[in-house]
Amino acid sequence: MQCPYCGNEMEKGYLQSRDGIGWGKKEVFVKALSELFAEKPLGKAVEAYNCRQCKKLLIEYD
Ligand SMILES: [Zn+2]
Repeated sequence: MQCPYCGNEMEKGYLQSRDGIGWGKKEVFVKALSELFAEKPLGKAVEAYNCRQCKKLLIEYD
């Protein structure tokens, strides 16, 4: 996958967390062993493409 910022090829890998990964509009305190902070939990690992030059991660989720 090409980086949308610089056009270089990105490295495929995984963004992982022991307790789950989530996205929300606000930064909130995250309790241990809780996935309730996210509007939609993404699971404990998602594919991620890394551009080391731009220091950007691009993830895909379903
Ligand atoms: Zn880049």
